[in-house]
Amino acid sequence: MRHRIDSEMALREYIQPSETESEAIEATKDVFQWSITPYYASLMDPSDPNCPIRRQVVPLMDELAPDVVGMEDPLEEVAHSPVKNLIHNYPDRVAFCVTSQCAIYCRYCLRKRMVGEAEFMMRKGELREAIAYIAAHSEIRDVLLTGGDPLTLGDANIDWLLTELRAIPHVDLIRIGSRMPVKLPQRITPELCEVLSKHHPIWFNTHFNHPNELTPEAGAAIDRLLRAGVPVGNQTVLLKGINDSVETMRELCQGLVRMRIRPYYLYQAQLIGGTAHLRTPIEVGMHIMHELQGRLTGFAIPKYVLDTPFGKVPLTRDYVLGRNAEGVVMKSTRGDIWVEMNEAPLPGQVPIGLPEMDSFVK
Ligand SMILES: *Cc1c(COP(=O)(O)O)cnc(C)c1O
Ligand code: SF4
Repeated sequence: MRHRIDSEMALREYIQPSETESEAIEATKDVFQWSITPYYASLMDPSDPNCPIRRQVVPLMDELAPDVVGMEDPLEEVAHSPVKNLIHNYPDRVAFCVTSQCAIYCRYCLRKRMVGEAEFMMRKGELREAIAYIAAHSEIRDVLLTGGDPLTLGDANIDWLLTELRAIPHVDLIRIGSRMPVKLPQRITPELCEVLSKHHPIWFNTHFNHPNELTPEAGAAIDRLLRAGVPVGNQTVLLKGINDSVETMRELCQGLVRMRIRPYYLYQAQLIGGTAHLRTPIEVGMHIMHELQGRLTGFAIPKYVLDTPFGKVPLTRDYVLGRNAEGVVMKSTRGDIWVEMNEAPLPGQVPIGLPEMDSFVK
C-alpha cells in the first residue's frame, strides 16, 4: 500500500503512458482518486494502450467528456442510508461501507461519490452507530461489509468489527466484498485468514474482470481463503473494450472456477459520470449470457444483473414463452421449441400467469 503508484513518473517504471493517459492523470486529479498497486501495475501491457488492466485503472481524457446520463448516486444509496455509510435497501440485508479507502481506484467505480473521500471514512464511533442500527433491526440477517475496500482496515479492526457483528444474535451471515485478491493479493495473509475463520459463517465476494488478472499470486490468495473455510464468489462489471466479448467472458468464468471461485454476478455498468466510454449496451451483455448458457459448466455462469434503486433486476431472456393447451412452451438455449406437459395453476393460485399461446403441431 505504501508503495502505490500515484504519479505519472512512477507509472513510467511500468508502462509507456499514451498521450491521453498522461494528460488525464493530471486533468482528472480533482475528479477522482488515482493510485495503483505495484503488483497490479506489473500486470499491465507496457506497449498496448488497450490493455484491459490499464483500461481499468489508468484514466483517459474520456472521463472528462460530457456524459449526458452520468449521475453521482444512481442507486440512491444516500437516500437508503439510515445512518452514515449503511445502505438498507433490502429488508433482510445491509451493505455496510466500513471505509472509503481502496488500494486502487477503478475508473468505473460505482461509489466514486465516496470512494477515497475523507468525509466518508468511518471513525470508531460511526462504526458503532451503524452496528447499533443493525442490532436494533432484527430483520437484518445478512451484513455485507463493503466500501471502499474493507480489507484496507487492519486485522485488529476487522477482528473487532466481526466480533461486534457476531454478538448480534439475528445476524446470520457476514459477507466481505473486497477487490484485494485482484489488486493486492498479498493482503490475504495467513493472519487475516485466521481472523476471518474465527467468525464463521463468513462469505467472500471478490471482483475479477479479466482473465489476465487470474495470476498465480491471486490463485494463492484465494487458496488461503478457501482453506480458512471462506467460500469465494466473484462479481464482474461488464466493461466496454475490457470484457464485453463472449470469448473473454468465457475465459474469465472458466479461469475463475479453475481457482474454485464461483462466478456470482455480472453487473451492467452503472450510469456514473465520466464512464460512458466504459459502458456497453445491455443487448451485448444479454448476448454474452446467451452464448455462455449451455456452453459452460452451469456453476461457472454468473447472473447478469442491473442494480436499480429498487434492487437488482436480472437481465435475462425469456426462455419460457407461455402456456398453451398442452402445457408450458419454452425455447431451448439452442433455439428449439419444447412444450412441457404441465398442469395449469388453479384460478387465483398465483398472482400472474403465463401468456396464453395457441397450440401448434410439434
Ligand atoms: C447488492 C446489494 C446487496 C446484496 O445483494 P445480494 O443479491 O443478496 O447479493 C445488499 N445491499 C445492497 C444495497 C446491494 O446493492
Ligand atoms: S475496488 Fe470497488 S470500491 Fe474500490 S475503486 Fe474499485 S470498484 Fe470502486
